[in-house]
Amino acid sequence: MNRARPGRDRRAQRVEARGGLARVEGYVPRVAVVGGGIAGLSAATVLAERGVGVTLYERDAQLGGRLAGWGTRLADGSEATMSRGFHAFFRQYYNLRALLRRTDPGLNGLTGLPDYPLRHRDGGQEGFARVPRTPPLSALGFVAQSPSFGWRDLGRMNPRAALPLLDVGVPEVYEALDGVSAAEFLAAIRFPEAAHHLAFEVFSRSFFADPATLSAAELVLMFHIYFLGSSEGLLFDVPREPFPQALWDPLARYLDGLGVRIRTGTAVAEVRPDGEERVAVAAGAGADRYDGVVLALDTGGLQAVVGASPELVDPRWRERIAGLRTAPPFLVSRLWLSRPVAGDRHGFLGTAGYDGLDNVSVLDRWEGEAHRWALATGGSVVELHAYAVDPAQRRSQVEERLVRRLREVYPETADARIVDARHEWRADCPLFTVGGYRDRPGVRTGDARVVVAGDMVRTGLPVALMERAATSGFQAANALLERWGVRGETLWTVPRRGRSAAGRALAGLGRR
Ligand SMILES: Cc1cc2nc3c(=O)[nH]c(=O)nc-3n(C[C@H](O)[C@H](O)[C@H](O)COP(=O)(O)OP(=O)(O)OC[C@H]3O[C@@H](n4cnc5c(N)ncnc54)[C@H](O)[C@@H]3O)c2cc1C
Repeated sequence: MNRARPGRDRRAQRVEARGGLARVEGYVPRVAVVGGGIAGLSAATVLAERGVGVTLYERDAQLGGRLAGWGTRLADGSEATMSRGFHAFFRQYYNLRALLRRTDPGLNGLTGLPDYPLRHRDGGQEGFARVPRTPPLSALGFVAQSPSFGWRDLGRMNPRAALPLLDVGVPEVYEALDGVSAAEFLAAIRFPEAAHHLAFEVFSRSFFADPATLSAAELVLMFHIYFLGSSEGLLFDVPREPFPQALWDPLARYLDGLGVRIRTGTAVAEVRPDGEERVAVAAGAGADRYDGVVLALDTGGLQAVVGASPELVDPRWRERIAGLRTAPPFLVSRLWLSRPVAGDRHGFLGTAGYDGLDNVSVLDRWEGEAHRWALATGGSVVELHAYAVDPAQRRSQVEERLVRRLREVYPETADARIVDARHEWRADCPLFTVGGYRDRPGVRTGDARVVVAGDMVRTGLPVALMERAATSGFQAANALLERWGVRGETLWTVPRRGRSAAGRALAGLGRR
């Protein structure tokens, strides 16, 4: 049974693209999309569907960016697909889902996990499945059933400081709260200490950041997206097979069918204006000329290309790009174990207080490839994530510590032999520092030929992470299509203001 719900919250909002032709007519513009992650794939899809000639450049050998996957042979001789692993495809990810529906209209390649359980080392465990989904009942229901957040705590909160939570708009939330850290904001609203891990682990850690350096605006935006502004809550789906098989191979075939030239293993070195109308994109030995370029890179990649492109856009814009920050490194450890984990373990468990272990996934519960390996061997496939790791720590020590913590979280794994392990260390997620919103790039730049997409980009909509990548990719395509009088992709978001009129009125009083 497919439990992935394809529907949308009835209050989801439609953001209509500017009208125009269904496809380009006459002259066929050519666009270079640089970066083959979700943002670049989203932009390439919409452009190619409208008849634009697209070349997609991706530095790595595979598509998918941070969700890329690659083959690896395990010590027991079996083939597996490694990746940066567990990603939650939340039900509010309307635009990402629209992209995936291009090749999988029923989203049958996704499957729902029943809950978002969180366990604290002190013993508390909570989940979100039983919480009513309609705001504000979602918040009240959560208080009623949560062991770490009680009615008394609610009474102690500072209501005035908490009012911004009730009516979150973009960019207003950044104007009000980008100058404050997530930690300061939670202290100001007197969010109960025992429930901090809820806010931090679920929301702020998912930004790979220490709450003391993360902008409060991003945290409050997360509350809005998942909790107070939508009725889908924290429930999510995961792909049934590794990312390439489930998502990117079918999308690459679709793009190929639309005539997109996919150049994997090709890093773009420089982008240069070429006369008044064109841009030259240098990759490998030569440079090609295009009518537009979508820069859909991760922060480091964008900085490298812009740093090597001294004539691109204008000096102030290049300076802002140079000032962007990348979050500290993260570790994804995948272990192929000789024994199964206990039958009642969750497919995914958020963890707090375990020396930097942020979550544990039992992949063979939901991913076909891992499931087949577990069936064939009698073992299990477990994945451990640690975000915002102190770069001064020895990597091998962090890896060993995570395995020790796994044995504490799921004691039955202590007797299991590690048949094989893969450890992925990376540092390519954006850091949303206090006060940094102003300098993040928007989709449009001072040059109509050059647009930007990615999960660090300002979209003007309440979206984050993978959904921000997909949304900005669509917006980047739309901005270019507008130049050629072609209709873009319609976007969807959770409500762009607080859902309840009473909440909005209260928040308005607080702003006076
Ligand atoms: C461990 C982990 C867990 C996560 N969990 C979640 C989750 O549960 N839910 C969620 O929503 N999000 C999650 N995220 C975040 C999510 O992965 C990102 O938001 C999303 O993938 C960003 O997509 P993107 O297209 O903006 O960037 P990327 O995927 O980084 O794509 C950028 C691409 O540009 C390419 N590139 C760089 N330089 C060049 C160059 N010079 N020329 C050509 N190509 C270049 C890169 O190789 C890369 O493929 C997680 C991230 C990680 C790392």
